[in-house]
Amino acid sequence: MQVVYSPAHLGHDVSVETYMGSPVPANEVAERAERIRSALESDGGFPISGPTAHGLEPITAVHEPGLVRFLEEAWSAVRSQGIERPFLSADTYPNRSMFEGMSDDAIRDIVREPRHIGGRAGFWGLDSAAPLVAGTYVAALAAVDVALTAVDLVLGGERAVYGLCRPPGHHAARSMYGGYCFFNNAAIAADSIARSTGERVAVLDVDFHHGNGTQQIFWRRGDVRYVSIHADPDRQYPYFLGRADETGEGEGSGENLNIPLQAGATNGDYLDSLDRALEAIAAAPGSVIVVSLGFDTYGLDPIGDFALTTDVYHEIGKRTAALRRRLVILQEGGYHRPSLGENARAWLRGAEGRAFDPLPANGFGPGGTVTG
Ligand SMILES: [Zn+2]
Repeated sequence: MQVVYSPAHLGHDVSVETYMGSPVPANEVAERAERIRSALESDGGFPISGPTAHGLEPITAVHEPGLVRFLEEAWSAVRSQGIERPFLSADTYPNRSMFEGMSDDAIRDIVREPRHIGGRAGFWGLDSAAPLVAGTYVAALAAVDVALTAVDLVLGGERAVYGLCRPPGHHAARSMYGGYCFFNNAAIAADSIARSTGERVAVLDVDFHHGNGTQQIFWRRGDVRYVSIHADPDRQYPYFLGRADETGEGEGSGENLNIPLQAGATNGDYLDSLDRALEAIAAAPGSVIVVSLGFDTYGLDPIGDFALTTDVYHEIGKRTAALRRRLVILQEGGYHRPSLGENARAWLRGAEGRAFDPLPANGFGPGGTVTG
């Protein structure tokens, strides 16, 4: 299987993030993508190539141009303050209750992007979990190019292509970044496929978290069906979207399927949900699936609370490929660094119909348990 990768992600790296106000070691780090790249290289069955530039048009087809401008300008605005900062993160957000009692028209007229970079970060940001550094914008652009190059290869005849996107994308909405995500790689890919082929597209999101951004972008669209299996937002990020009764509106009515799962979800629980998700995808026409692939469903993941093991990723890849549609597989989350490479190899080999033989040297057995 062809793999698309760009080293531009290395410029977007942090060592610390905050969780409920406390500084903690960063989870979404450059090492994640490097672990996956190196495991795929060792496998020998995954030729890796670089992305081609696609420009801003496919991005602004999905995202508000003001968000793009903010991300492009943010770091130089931070530097012009003359204060040394490890990263930019927002701390004041336009909570909807700030405008309680005001009409929608009044809100539209009055609430606007402020000049101060801290205010701008809050205006465009969902949360403090997307630290922005000098290389963030270039890395986010490259992740989109990785996704769109994977799309080109699939539309050019490849059956399945893996785009090693980093930063991830599925929390980024039309006018919002957040949750480690800046541009929504999967949504941009799906939109681009729908526009260039005129066909319906499905997005299968198997990251541990709900892809609130992808849901928002396609909420009213009838040409993209979004199906997601994720942690119940009652207990997990992004907290405010991802419930089963969110099904889309207007032309998108019935095109959004959320399958929230309980803490401790097992391989069996997950595969049952996957079968439901795949059934919903098979029920609509279309020949391409964009997969938002996360490994934070893994049992040892420091953020997730599911109990999946490495061998089930092989099965998930296999069942997804069994729909016999072409696959644009894009990397989202997954934070247990030692297992990322093997989990990716297992998934992708499953999608190709190749057996999965765990690499003996890495200390991970086929069940994903640490053996050394
Ligand atoms: Zn996630």
